[in-house]
Amino acid sequence: MYLVSACLLGMKTRFDGGSNFLQELVSFARNGLLIPVCPEQLGGLSTPRLPAEIQGQGGGAAVLNRSPGEKQLAVVVNKEGDNVTEAFLKGARETLRLARLMQVKGAILKQGSPSCGSLYIYDGSFQKRKIEGMGVTAALLASGGFALFDEFNLPF
Ligand code: SF4
Repeated sequence: MYLVSACLLGMKTRFDGGSNFLQELVSFARNGLLIPVCPEQLGGLSTPRLPAEIQGQGGGAAVLNRSPGEKQLAVVVNKEGDNVTEAFLKGARETLRLARLMQVKGAILKQGSPSCGSLYIYDGSFQKRKIEGMGVTAALLASGGFALFDEFNLPF
């Protein structure tokens, strides 16, 4: 069993109210192999919502690495400049909780998202510039030992 980004199963969880439906996943979902999850909704964000990107160095792993008293190396902000880091952290933790509860083999996550991206994210400028790096949830799942897949690299 695998967690899957809910938007890949056609749930309209994306920031703009759309989805990233991937037909290829339907038969696996019907066979009970997939558990849909949207970390940003689990973090309490509404849909639709403003787009958000990670700003600073180190991507999602740096967002997670919060030492008391030290300057935060990376934060998540929305397009209006609001700091939405707490919601992204909550969503990541809840997703990890679900992954552990269900003892999944891994997660199939939408590439590029500030939560779900596992190979690339956007650079924080809101100029559609991709950089290597992970989203917050992907980084937390990886640190918990879960294998990560994406829409271009399925585990089946
Ligand atoms: Fe899809 Fe992940 Fe974004 Fe939710 S947070 S809409 S599951 S890419």
